[in-house]
Amino acid sequence: MREDGRKALEFETRARIGPAWAEGESGRFAVHDPATGETLCEVADCSVAQTESAIEAAHAAWPQWRSATAEARAEALRKLAQAMHANETRLARIMTREQGKPLAEAAGEVRYAAGFIAWAAEEGKRIYGETIPSPKAGKRIWVHRQPVGVVAAITPWNFPLAMITRKIGPALAVGCTAVVKPAELTPLSALALMELAVEAGLPPGVLNVVTTSDAEAHGKAILGDARVRKVSFTGSTEVGKWLVRAAAEHLPRLSLELGGHAPAIVFDDADLDQAVEEIVAAKFRNCGQTCVCVNRIYVQRPVAEAFMQKLAARLEALRVGPGMDPAAEIGPLVDRATFEKVERHVADARARGAKLVCGGQALPELGPTYYAPTLLTEVDHEMLVMREETFGPVAPVCVFDEEQQAIDWANDTDFGLAAYFFSRGVARCFRVGEALEYGIVGINDGRPSTPEAPFGGFKQSGWGREGGKYAMDAYLETKYLSWSL
Ligand code: ADP
Repeated sequence: MREDGRKALEFETRARIGPAWAEGESGRFAVHDPATGETLCEVADCSVAQTESAIEAAHAAWPQWRSATAEARAEALRKLAQAMHANETRLARIMTREQGKPLAEAAGEVRYAAGFIAWAAEEGKRIYGETIPSPKAGKRIWVHRQPVGVVAAITPWNFPLAMITRKIGPALAVGCTAVVKPAELTPLSALALMELAVEAGLPPGVLNVVTTSDAEAHGKAILGDARVRKVSFTGSTEVGKWLVRAAAEHLPRLSLELGGHAPAIVFDDADLDQAVEEIVAAKFRNCGQTCVCVNRIYVQRPVAEAFMQKLAARLEALRVGPGMDPAAEIGPLVDRATFEKVERHVADARARGAKLVCGGQALPELGPTYYAPTLLTEVDHEMLVMREETFGPVAPVCVFDEEQQAIDWANDTDFGLAAYFFSRGVARCFRVGEALEYGIVGINDGRPSTPEAPFGGFKQSGWGREGGKYAMDAYLETKYLSWSL
């Protein structure tokens, strides 16, 4: 799309159904710039019939795509990953405009997102079967893996590219075709990715992107269509449960990557500078709007004072501003609803006796959804900040005495996605790492996510794993061929 002379910030605003770009049969809906609250552009508002057409296109493209060689599929995906790298700046700018995150973070997400495609392209060549010795003479047991079929990917706004590529990378690599329904707040990145996929030569129908302002109606259409064999969802636990109920009719395979409520524990034998650096990365990345963001911090009493001083100094130095400003480290929250939840959590904590160390207020001079990086102490487990996902730049810190107390608090939640802890004791690292009921545990590490590793949660944080070789299973059926010779 760059060779044809488009400007860096020209957006594709049409949906992609089979071989064609399509205007929305339900009109258009507005995409906002979180930095200003103003409308950025309008995109196609697809009808349910258009989602059904996209499913049909994916279904029609499937036989040929699944019978292509893994190497041919890998080649197409490699080209897509290369195109993403070649267009890093453009993709990052589009993402920052619609989502708000600072440009450097957006560029990092483009690389991360391309990583899922590139990694899956290679792993798609290693979908091995098995032969198993039969208990009966003259019989053979073969185990074969084959693509599940049409995949629907329903994705959130906080990582407008990576949450899509984490699904379509493995899906396409193993021979599935896909319909993507991006979040209504951030459809532009998905459409820009689709443009690159077209240029990379993905055959028509293999990948489709349907944009809509009516997620529920389209969700019903997806779950109500027997041609959709797999639904991979990233988003809220509430919608995840809705999908589970809706899936009862046709029983598509479901992967669910849902909410989190990540604890970070700082033990008295931690390297405090490292703990502060990693916690700031894990808490304030994307303005606190990730499901693996630290939501609550537990610090052991002997180091509590020193840790909080260091953390407060670091937070006060964070530069808040529009994501397009290269100096900004913290951008705006994505929309007013997200902003209001943050305000509610802080007001609730303060009303219940939490002490404000820094931040604690909106920054209206910057725009409608900016919020200062906030540190709260003297918090307890009755407060919303300690019970629910805040999804904002608020760090509540609670002091503990015994190791077991911190583990119990950390595990006392319905969620189990990511947890972090900081310690230099090897025995403690094993002990605590094994005791935490979480799918991802960062040990002295606030940035564990990478395309090579499994990502997913225990308990109500979801079903299944994305990333690495584990991701492939979600898009494969296991077939047993029993041969009598
Ligand atoms: P978040 O809290 O991150 O906005 P949501 O769960 O509301 O999470 O949204 C994640 C994705 O799920 C978005 O693409 C959204 O449009 C979609 N979505 C929301 N409600 C439904 C639904 N009832 N059926 C299918 N998709 C839905």
